[in-house]
Amino acid sequence: MQAPIGIFGGTFDPVHLGHLRAAEEVQSLLSLQKVIFVPCGTPALGKQPHATAEQRLQMVLLATKGLAGFTVDRYEVDQPGPSYAYDTLRYLRSVYAEAPLCFIVGVDAFLQFEKWHRWQELFDLAHFVVMQRPGYSLPEQGNLPAWVRQRWADNPEALHQSTHGCIFVCQITPHDISATAIRSRVAAAQKLEHLLPDRVQQYIADNSLYTN
Ligand code: ATP
Repeated sequence: MQAPIGIFGGTFDPVHLGHLRAAEEVQSLLSLQKVIFVPCGTPALGKQPHATAEQRLQMVLLATKGLAGFTVDRYEVDQPGPSYAYDTLRYLRSVYAEAPLCFIVGVDAFLQFEKWHRWQELFDLAHFVVMQRPGYSLPEQGNLPAWVRQRWADNPEALHQSTHGCIFVCQITPHDISATAIRSRVAAAQKLEHLLPDRVQQYIADNSLYTN
């Protein structure tokens, strides 16, 4: 079977070095053939982006430009209505019928998993790779722990042996960077060193984003 493809969805408002370093680390730890960044068009769970979908897409294109193994898909940006991982995974499954697909998500986002559209069907389309993130841990209460246990993969090899259905929790180097903190720093005219690729920082300045 071919090597798995990572799918990294997010609002990316803006994309930052926490995203890029996490994606690089996951790609290497899991031997992914590539990581596809999928900027969200309209968030389904009520989050209101500050930059437009097209601007967020442009920032992801600038951030990943020239990075081997990273591509960007504008599927969600072009879809009308809320962006659902279910639709995106069905679309990507139609493009990559044979490859294992690994939906990469931070543990903070995975905590909301039961609110996702058709969440119980998502494991029929892809594996899930949950990245550790400072300040968050996997839930111990509710339905999710049992759901996770049933699909638990002890090692990345499992993600290479089937096209979907497993969950792998990935211990990555913690990067305490968030888009929320970056937007606040831009609004307060504070320095952004070591938080963003230079090209993204320039795009934010050129388009006067996040200045309130
Ligand atoms: P915001 O602060 O606006 O909520 P964010 O920094 O969490 O944004 P998103 O675009 O919402 O960025 O995140 C996309 C995905 O990347 C999510 O699955 C999120 O958990 C993950 N992620 C974001 N930042 C990090 C980080 N520093 N380390 C690991 N995962 C991250």
